[in-house]
Amino acid sequence: MARPRLLGLALLVALSLAGCREAAIRYNTRYNTLLQEELPRTLPIPVDGVTASHLQNTWGYARDGGRHHKGIDIFAPRNTPVRSATAGIIDFKGMKGLGGQVVTVTGPGGYRLYYAHLEDFGLQEAGDWVEPGEVIGYVGNSGNAAISSTHLHYGIYEPSGRAVNPYTYLKNSQPFSMQAEMQTAAK
Ligand SMILES: [Zn+2]
Repeated sequence: MARPRLLGLALLVALSLAGCREAAIRYNTRYNTLLQEELPRTLPIPVDGVTASHLQNTWGYARDGGRHHKGIDIFAPRNTPVRSATAGIIDFKGMKGLGGQVVTVTGPGGYRLYYAHLEDFGLQEAGDWVEPGEVIGYVGNSGNAAISSTHLHYGIYEPSGRAVNPYTYLKNSQPFSMQAEMQTAAK
């Protein structure tokens, strides 16, 4: 009686290991495909309810310590959902220096999207795959934004690590929340 049960258990373990391996391979293929893709020229605005006309191109503005602003600030009420602009893999979730609570996602073409000053995080963990529009955090003022109004600091980095101006990707765009409304209206 004990032996068949043991055999069954061994089979179950072997099958689930094989399943895991298959999932890992699929994940890898998906990730490799993503790295081959190009980052779209227009990306959805990652903060719910913020339209392009609300955005200010603050790229390059002087900051203390001789720094320059390597992104744009998207102002919104505390706890407004922040959504991943692209598909990708969460490569960091946690506290990171001036950024406070930060999520970074490696997306199409190996570009890194940097979401900072978050009040709170989505449910994903580092290493998880995200789809465009998934909530990855909530607007706040953590890090060096503690004395400013709540906003998302949004950065886009080339695979080389060079920052590019996110405003150019957003100026003709809409938030995910509005795209969903328009799709519903069209039905
Ligand atoms: Zn900023």
